[in-house]
Amino acid sequence: MSTETIFTKIINREIPADIIYEDEQALAFTDINPQAPFHVLIIPKSPIATINDVTTENAALVGHLYVVAAKLAKEHGFAEDGYRVVMNCNGHGGQTVYHIHLHMLAGKAMGWPPY
Ligand code: 5GP
Repeated sequence: MSTETIFTKIINREIPADIIYEDEQALAFTDINPQAPFHVLIIPKSPIATINDVTTENAALVGHLYVVAAKLAKEHGFAEDGYRVVMNCNGHGGQTVYHIHLHMLAGKAMGWPPY
């Protein structure tokens, strides 16, 4: 099964995206359909389809996505007020792009439960 998704095209600059952060392992860009004043997707450059594919081998890469979230929160002034990070998995989780991504939502108070 191909691991290529629309996010591979964003990583390779084949389609445009508002990229706000990049390092060797990860990329962060604004969600095309934002659900908060600040809504970015933080993705690993090396694709992992779903959370079900997270293993001890790629755990550090997944953990790195949270390091990026904390860095962006500080840089953009959301650390103190707070924010939400969410990763959806498969149908019931609401996943639509099969390349894991951390949704980072900030800039307003979030509701709970999320449905
Ligand atoms: P999921 O539903 O898989 O958790 O989240 C996928 C997210 O990717 C959605 O919030 C959707 O708006 C976003 N998205 C889908 N296609 C594109 C795209 O081409 N560019 C950007 N920037 N975001 C996208």
